[in-house]
Amino acid sequence: MPLPPAVPLRKGIRLVSCELPAIMAFADIVGHDKAIEVLRRAAGSGRVAQAYLFAGPPNIGKTTVAKQFAKALNCEKLPEGTPPEQLEPCGICHNCVRIEEENHPDFMVLRPGLRLETRDELPEDAASEQEDEAVEEPVAQDGPGLFGDEEPAPAQTGPSLFGDEPAAAVQAGPRKPPPKAKRRQSKIAMYVELPDALIYTEQIQEVVDRTSVKLAAGTRHRVIVITEADRIQYNAVDRLLKTLEEPPARTTFVLTSSNPAVVKDTIVSRCQTIKFQPLTTSQMLERLTERCPDADADTLRAVAAMAGGRFGRAEHLLATPAARAVRDGLLTMAAESTDALLMQCMAMGEKIIDLNEQWLAATDRALAGDGAGDPSDRLAQLRAKAIAEMGKSSPDRFKRIAMNQLLDMLQSWYRDLALLRAAPHSQLVANSDWRDTLGDLAPLYTHKGLRFASQTIENTRADLLGHNANMRLACEVLMCKLIASRRRR
Ligand SMILES: [Zn+2]
Repeated sequence: MPLPPAVPLRKGIRLVSCELPAIMAFADIVGHDKAIEVLRRAAGSGRVAQAYLFAGPPNIGKTTVAKQFAKALNCEKLPEGTPPEQLEPCGICHNCVRIEEENHPDFMVLRPGLRLETRDELPEDAASEQEDEAVEEPVAQDGPGLFGDEEPAPAQTGPSLFGDEPAAAVQAGPRKPPPKAKRRQSKIAMYVELPDALIYTEQIQEVVDRTSVKLAAGTRHRVIVITEADRIQYNAVDRLLKTLEEPPARTTFVLTSSNPAVVKDTIVSRCQTIKFQPLTTSQMLERLTERCPDADADTLRAVAAMAGGRFGRAEHLLATPAARAVRDGLLTMAAESTDALLMQCMAMGEKIIDLNEQWLAATDRALAGDGAGDPSDRLAQLRAKAIAEMGKSSPDRFKRIAMNQLLDMLQSWYRDLALLRAAPHSQLVANSDWRDTLGDLAPLYTHKGLRFASQTIENTRADLLGHNANMRLACEVLMCKLIASRRRR
């Protein structure tokens, strides 16, 4: 039997502790048995819905499942009429490989994208053959819809530095012809998946146009994935609706969202919703141990606890020891706040700002994607450069995105306290590596105090993301209120 082709590791993941095998089929997916069963039955019976909405937290594997679904519908080794239980794509045929690489004419994944431009420096011999073209300064600008005009990104769970799937999958100017090189330097445009980007009208139009083209030879069913459907630009929704309502034959849309509550009702009503649940910490630990047998047990335990049931996040954390240190610093501070004096809130606010800088530094590399440190990977290099330029031109935006992640971690801390306050022996603690400390602290709080803490964190998130509040001040007020929450009766 031929060896499966080497599939590149997911973008944005740099593994230091172990190499997770690539996902080639349903059987490689961690969890989501129910969702997979529904999809297999649909594919096996030939009754595939015209649109699905995969709802669940970010990094949980929604897009990965959608990909395997597309493979199952098109795998050359699976003749039409294969019974559902045998619908396991081979992962190595032409269709499977091209779907995996997102390079199949009838499969596409549309992600929120931010159009970045940078200068591509070509080797001289290649450049001398190119036509002259004006050199422009690199600009990092918002995508086709102007950002300021849009509604702010929803703050419920907020944007995630980890994105939904690969942290920084990038399409190099998908709607543009290949960038024309200029003598030595040319501008190159690329769509970078930044966490607070939107899906623009132009992107939706491309999808709509694509559905009107005849299926390629060898395709049985076209699948179009639109991730983070809650971030479709307001005026693009109508354009999509018509196609969702009456898609051409043998075409299925898979929309994903980590904020399904804010997906437009008109979209939801046209989709069959499939819910994706996070793994429990013990399921996660089991799968990580199975997949990374050489990684040390303490690291895996910490990662399983931190990942909040999201396998994609676990992969990222394994790759980023610095990120693990930041989280420990933050939770230490949360634990200390129980006994802190109100006057310490300024120092603690300062500390959050400091931790945020460290978090940003640790996750920045992940945004640049896999291969960013490899001089031979030109696209990765350009991506890293474009992101660095953007970071310089709007550092504040990057900081707010990062801060959103820290607030997630703080929120999980207070959620755990509330859980243990109500059920001291609960197995559902998210920060299970901190369980003993959490168990000691939980009885010191009242339910009212914990609700107040949780609400305070959400208000801070809304202030920072939606209202551009001053970061330092917002962090000080946050800590002041969190310290006070312990005394609330
Ligand atoms: Zn196949």
